[in-house]
Amino acid sequence: MDLQRWLAAALDSNVDWSRSFGQYARHPSLEVTDDRFAGVFAQLTERLKDNYPFFHPRYAGQMLKPPHPAAVVGYLTTMLINPNNHALDGGPATATMEREVVQQLAEMFGYETHLGHLTTSGTIANLEALFVARSLHPSLGVAYSAEAHYTHSRMCTVLGIEGHSVPVDPAGRMDLDALEDLLRTGRVGTVVLTAGTTGLGAIDPIDEALGLREKYGVRIHVDAAYGGFFTLLAGELGIPAGPWQAVAAADSIVIDPHKHGLQPYGCGAILFRDPEVGKFYLHDSPYTYFTSDELHLGEISLECSRAGAAAAALWLTFQLIPPTRDGLGEALAAGRRAAIRWAELIDKSEVLELYQNPTLDIVGYFPAARSLSAVDAVSARILDAGMTADDPVFLSTFRVSAEAFLARHPDLDADVKGGRILRSVLMKPESEDYVDQLHARLEALT
Ligand SMILES: *Cc1c(COP(=O)(O)O)cnc(C)c1O
Repeated sequence: MDLQRWLAAALDSNVDWSRSFGQYARHPSLEVTDDRFAGVFAQLTERLKDNYPFFHPRYAGQMLKPPHPAAVVGYLTTMLINPNNHALDGGPATATMEREVVQQLAEMFGYETHLGHLTTSGTIANLEALFVARSLHPSLGVAYSAEAHYTHSRMCTVLGIEGHSVPVDPAGRMDLDALEDLLRTGRVGTVVLTAGTTGLGAIDPIDEALGLREKYGVRIHVDAAYGGFFTLLAGELGIPAGPWQAVAAADSIVIDPHKHGLQPYGCGAILFRDPEVGKFYLHDSPYTYFTSDELHLGEISLECSRAGAAAAALWLTFQLIPPTRDGLGEALAAGRRAAIRWAELIDKSEVLELYQNPTLDIVGYFPAARSLSAVDAVSARILDAGMTADDPVFLSTFRVSAEAFLARHPDLDADVKGGRILRSVLMKPESEDYVDQLHARLEALT
């Protein structure tokens, strides 16, 4: 699609709609001339050059990429109106769109009933899941794996509940025997399982953990902020089907459309299987202007103001690239194939080693060396050398503990407590055709 054409169309649609309400005088206090604007705008574009090229497949570092052009046009068109999805009156059209996209997400995971909404981020979405968990089990703690996102332990502190870190197996998945030992103490009310860890994309054994829910009466929350859309590839390309099928039975799910859903930042989502939990959000605010009997999004959300534009952007994107195997699934499959291909190349390499087999599209690897201290030093050097080279590559480092390193590479010398390895998130489908080049660059740099 021609972005310039549709950005112009976005402005036109706003002008037409605004004019239908008649002329009015704009206030001089807000007037900015084009001359003044030009100077400041030039500064902005200059300053924005201080960024890494997230859009380019030579950027193979953190979880970053620009939104789809459809999301950009959807966001900007709507932002010109600036609806607030806090209440139906704040943005009737975008509140309906939010319901529709949340329904699509719920269907993608196989939820037959749901209550949910978009959030500003995965952090807030997870906070809401733990807030509801605390309301149901006020005196009990929360268990999450040692490789879960740090937000869970932080939010347990915020909520004043006990957080328990559970060890992982050598593939980075929660150790269910260790979990069960913890559940036997009776101190845990909710288990957080991660479907796609932020570090290396490991998927906790959700299917096997479900049995523990009945036995110990715990809630199961699935944090699929990063990995959620990979449910579209369950059972394919080496992605296990069992955990994804089990997600439909989880009590709550978090997914971030601003990670793998082609959206700009400001778009997470929380889904609850039982709509009854809406009662924990009840408030009686004198500020809100609820005018209908329908449930307002602001009545089932901890956040108040939220961008209607985020809902519109996701709605427009899903109309074009729906969350189905043949829609968004195609884009994710390309990134997954890129990770498989790169893992094969690294496996055959003399100078690089695979940290562990990738489950999703995140590859962890390190320069071949005898000790963890050497791995750390060379990884850091490659990261810097890659960024400053004439033909640059942009990677990220990932800190691992000596135990985690030894669990995967028992023959190496873990001579320090922890160190950095290299990590590449291949979340752009374009990575698939670039991975041989990336690998050649890496070999040259090592
Ligand atoms: C990214 C991520 C989060 C935090 O989400 P934000 O959108 O960055 O706030 C939480 N959990 C997992 C597994 C994540 O990947």
